[in-house]
Formats: sequence, C-alpha cells, structure tokens
Amino acid sequence: MKVLVINAGSSSLKYQLLETTNNDVMAKGLCERIGIDGVLVHTGNKSDEKFTIHTPMATHSEAIKAVIDILLDPDKGVIASMREIDAVGHRVVHGGEFFSDSVVITDKVLKAIEDCVPLAPLHNPPNLIGIQACREVMGPDVPMVGVFDTAFHQTMPQSHYMYAIPYEYYNKYKIRRYGFHGTSHKYVSQQAAEMLGRPAEELKLITCHLGNGSSICAINGGKSFDTSMGFTPLDGLPMGTRAGNIDPAIIEFLAENENLSAAQVIDILNKKSGMLGISGVSSDFRDLDAAIADGNARAALAKDMFNLSVKKIIGSYIAEMGGVDAIIFTAGVGENDRSVRWDVCEHMEYLGIKVDPEKNKYRGKQMDISLDYARVRVLVIPTNEELMIAKDTERLVGELNK
Ligand code: AMP
Repeated sequence: MKVLVINAGSSSLKYQLLETTNNDVMAKGLCERIGIDGVLVHTGNKSDEKFTIHTPMATHSEAIKAVIDILLDPDKGVIASMREIDAVGHRVVHGGEFFSDSVVITDKVLKAIEDCVPLAPLHNPPNLIGIQACREVMGPDVPMVGVFDTAFHQTMPQSHYMYAIPYEYYNKYKIRRYGFHGTSHKYVSQQAAEMLGRPAEELKLITCHLGNGSSICAINGGKSFDTSMGFTPLDGLPMGTRAGNIDPAIIEFLAENENLSAAQVIDILNKKSGMLGISGVSSDFRDLDAAIADGNARAALAKDMFNLSVKKIIGSYIAEMGGVDAIIFTAGVGENDRSVRWDVCEHMEYLGIKVDPEKNKYRGKQMDISLDYARVRVLVIPTNEELMIAKDTERLVGELNK
C-alpha cells in the first residue's frame, strides 16, 4: 500500500510517501513558510538529491497541491497518478482521552480532535488544517487515518496519570498526564521485542526518546505503563529548551520578581530553559559537547543534569515495573550521543545494566550495546515515526476494506 504520511505544523508540512509492502520511502520533503511565501524541499528515492522549489503557498491546501505536483512530476516525481496514493496517515498531537489507538478519520473523529484543541492549542489546529487540506485536494474517497502522539499512553493506570490536585479539575478540565512521543515509544518497543526474539506481552521495557524534546516510557507487557511528559510536553526531563519538571511555585515567584505574566514564565520554561538555559550556549547536544571540550563548566553542568534526570526516571520505572528486560535509546541524542548513554547507564551494574564501551562507540545504528553477560539488554534503535504512521494506516484501512 502506498501511504502519504503528513505532519502539519502551523507554517510547515512534512511529508513522506511510503510503500508499506517493503517499507520503502519513495519520496519525502518539507514545505515551509506556508502563508508567507512557500519553499518546498523534496527528495525522491531515485537519487538522494534534494530539490528546492519556491512556489507560493498561501494555505496548507496549496502546500498539499505542491506536494502532489512534485510527486507526479515526470522528472522528479515517483508516481504517475494521484490515484496511486492508497491512503493518507496524519500525525495528530493530541487525542485526549478519546483515542487509545490510531483511527480512520470521519466527521466524528474530526470533532473529537477539535474538542482536544484546548489541550494542544498550538498543535491540533494545524493538524486539523492538514487533514482538511488533504480532503480538499485529494477528495473524500481517499481514506485517511489519524495517528496520535498521546494514544499509546492511554493504557496508563489512573494512579500513574493523575496529578495530586483537587480531583474536580480532572473532571472539569481533564487535567492529567497524557504523555507524548507515543508513536516513537510504540515503534521502538516493537522493534525491541523483535530484536530480543520475545513477544512484547512478556517484556518490561524502558524506552528513552532523547532528542530536542525528550521523554521516557515504561512499557509493561507491550502497554505504556508510565511516561515522563505530562499534561503538556513541558513535564519530565530537562530538554533542549524546556525546563522539564520543576517546583511549580517557581512560576509565581518568577512572575512576581521579574514582572511577568504566567504565560510569559511558561514561555521561558518552554523556550529558554533546559540545556540552553543552563549552558547559555545552545540547545543542541553537539554544541554542548564542543563547549565541554573547550572547558565550559555550564555546558558540562547542563549535560550532567540531563543524564541524571534520565537515570532517575529509569530507576523509578524499574521500581514501578518490578524489573526491566531492556532499556532502549532512540531519537537524535539517544541514537547518536554515546556519552549520554554511558553516563546514564553507569553505576547500574547492580541492576544488571552494563554497557559495552566498544559497542557504544557506534551511532545511529540498530544494535545491542550491552556486555554479553549483562542481565538487562541496552539497545539503540533509530526511531521511525513515519513508518509507524504508515503501518497503522495500512492496518486500519485494511480493516476498513475487509
Ligand atoms: P531529534 O529531536 O530527535 O531530531 O534530535 C535532535 C537533537 O539530537 C539535536 O538537537 C542534537 O542535540 C542531537 N544530536 C543529533 N546528532 C547528534 C550527534 N551526532 N551527537 C550528539 N547529539 C546529536
């Protein structure tokens, strides 16, 4: 099945055309500056060459049209007719408590995604616009599937997802831990089960999605059991620019002393904190490494804080699950930064965790990096959210056609 995977942001739209029979990425690209002027950077699979096309994109519909045009282009394209696209899979950030799995998009589903806008005011609206744009350009007969960042975590027990604030706020506003990166946690956990040659139902896994945004997930028997992001992606680990978990009283203190509104403080916690805020150098771990090599103590402090937070959460999830079979590192930092993997796993031999320094030298490669005798496997698994979206789309559209 040929699935077009769409990830629509407020002024950008990422796409991939995948053939699910062999997981081949036929083409991929990114539309940017939608509503401003419009730039499309496209890569077809005939060569890895990137084509940059400047074309007006006043709306997301025009961006989708530009994507279809380039996919059909006799020279740079990969398909001969739009009818070759069997289905579209959309990344949707927030599915609230409505969705515990991906779903075929209907009017009722669109309404539920709209109802989740207050929970993700920056993300769900552009996701909805992306869905509407595809409908407009491709017509109502092409099946579309919504794949939610939150859905995988809907299996968490209530004691894991509640915040200890008055219960009425859960009833009134649905304030609770939702968790994000669900598509990535699900994908790497399935890959891990395959690598270990054991059914997911038997396994206790801890998946560490460490990138610009980072979250960790405890997966017990194939189901999300706990996760570090919360009501919003601001909770949990310190990240590239996000503070992660802090004492909430700091918000009022900063608002009063810096003469800021709560929204302004939250903006600082989202955009100016984390690795950037502590190091004063950058949110990018490569820049931190370069600064550390130059003797920058604050860059070293930022990374130490990050590694310590990852270790603490892993420890708490081992306690919650009563053990762990494998710890998985994924996303930009998890796949590439060997010092993070090493420092996180150091001093955990007593739990059966021991990384092999030689195997840990590799980056971006799916492999087991633990010492042969270690009881717990430590795995590096490159994430592939687009493939997971395409596979879910294939599964649900397949069921539809049965
Ligand atoms: P992601 O959000 O998964 O795309 O991850 C992006 C982040 O991965 C970047 O901000 C970097 O901090 C980090 N990253 C990517 N490549 C490397 C690398 N070779 N070494 C260390 N960190 C890396």
